[in-house]
Amino acid sequence: METLTSIPVKKTLHSRIQEVDFDQLEFGKYVSDHMLVCDYANGQWTEPQIVPFANLSLSPTALALHYGQTVFEGMKAFRMADGRINIFRIDRHYDRLVRSLERMCMAVIPREVFVEGLLQLVELDKQWVPRKPGDALYLRPFMIATEERFGVKISDQYRFIIFTGPVPSLYTSPIKVKVETNYIRAARGGTGFAKCGGNYGGAYYPTLQARNAGYDQVLWTDGRENKYIEESGMMNVMFVIGNKLVTPPISDSILDGVTRDSLLAIAGDLGIATEERPVSVAELEEAFRQGSITEAFGAGTAAVVAPIKTINIQGTDHHLPEYSQENILYRLKERLENIRSGIEPDIHAWNFIV
Ligand SMILES: *Cc1c(COP(=O)(O)O)cnc(C)c1O
Repeated sequence: METLTSIPVKKTLHSRIQEVDFDQLEFGKYVSDHMLVCDYANGQWTEPQIVPFANLSLSPTALALHYGQTVFEGMKAFRMADGRINIFRIDRHYDRLVRSLERMCMAVIPREVFVEGLLQLVELDKQWVPRKPGDALYLRPFMIATEERFGVKISDQYRFIIFTGPVPSLYTSPIKVKVETNYIRAARGGTGFAKCGGNYGGAYYPTLQARNAGYDQVLWTDGRENKYIEESGMMNVMFVIGNKLVTPPISDSILDGVTRDSLLAIAGDLGIATEERPVSVAELEEAFRQGSITEAFGAGTAAVVAPIKTINIQGTDHHLPEYSQENILYRLKERLENIRSGIEPDIHAWNFIV
C-alpha cells in the first residue's frame, strides 16, 4: 500500500475537550476537535487535510441534499488495557465503504486516504479516546455529493469527511420487536447492503408505527414474500435455536455487518455451532412453540449486542427466556471486548494499532 506519510494539519486553537464529561458520555453528543476533509473534482481526489471540526459551507443545490448520494461508515477506536489505541477492523470497513460508494455511483476514496486519515486523526485527538472499558471513540467516515446543480444527475464532485466523538458502551436492556410484514427496509436488487442515508430515512416511518404499538424496533422481513427475517432495526439479527447461533445469510438486502462477522468468528473459536441460512417467520413460531429458541439479539457497532425479549408475530407476542451472563450473546460480547482491549489475544488480527 502506498502510504501518505503526513497529512497537513491545521490545529484548533481552542480544544473543547474540557466540555466533555467522560463519566456521563451520551451516544452522538460530543465531537472531537478535528476532522479530515478530502475533495473530489475533475476526476481526481485532492490532498486530504485535517482541520478543526467546523460547519460546512454548501450550496443549497449540492446534489447530496436532493437525490441521496450520501454514504457513511460507523466504526470505533478503543483504548487498550496497556494504554495503546486500536481501530477495529479498518480494512473490512474500508471494503464495505467501497461497495456502498460503487452502488451509489460515487467516487471511491483511496484506501491510503481512509487508513492514514483515520490513523492520523485518532492520533491527533487521542485525548478524546475514553479510558473507561467498553467506551470508545466513534469514527464516522462519510461522503456526500457536492456538485452544485439542481437537475437529477450523478454528481461529478464529492466531499469525504471523517469526524470522531467519544461514546459510552451502550448497555441496552432487552427490547421488544415486531415482525414487519407490511413495510420493507430493502428489496432484492436494491440498496439494502449499502450504508447509504436513504435506507435510514425510509425505515423511520415503519419504526415509528412499531413504537406507537409499544415495540422498540421492527424485525424486517424480505421484500419478496415477507417470509424470511432479514435484520433487526438497523442491526443484523442473530438467534440461538437448538443451541446453535443462527443468522440470515448476507445478501443484497442485508447489510454485511462487521459485528455480525466478528461474532460468528468468535462463536467458532468458542466451539459454538453457527449457521448462516434463511430464518423464516414460521420457523421462529415453531421454535417458540417447542421452546428451542433461547436467545435473539441485534448485532452492530454501537451496542455490540442488543438482546431481544419479545418478538411480535402477526399480533402475538412471543417471549424469550430471561437473559443471564451465561447466555451466548453475553459470552460473545465479552470475548469481543476482551480482544479489543488486548486482554485476550487478537488471533484474527482485527486490531489496527494506532
Ligand atoms: C451499520 C449497519 C449494521 C451493523 O453493521 P456493523 O458493521 O456491525 O456496525 C447492520 N445493519 C444495518 C442496516 C446497518 O446500517
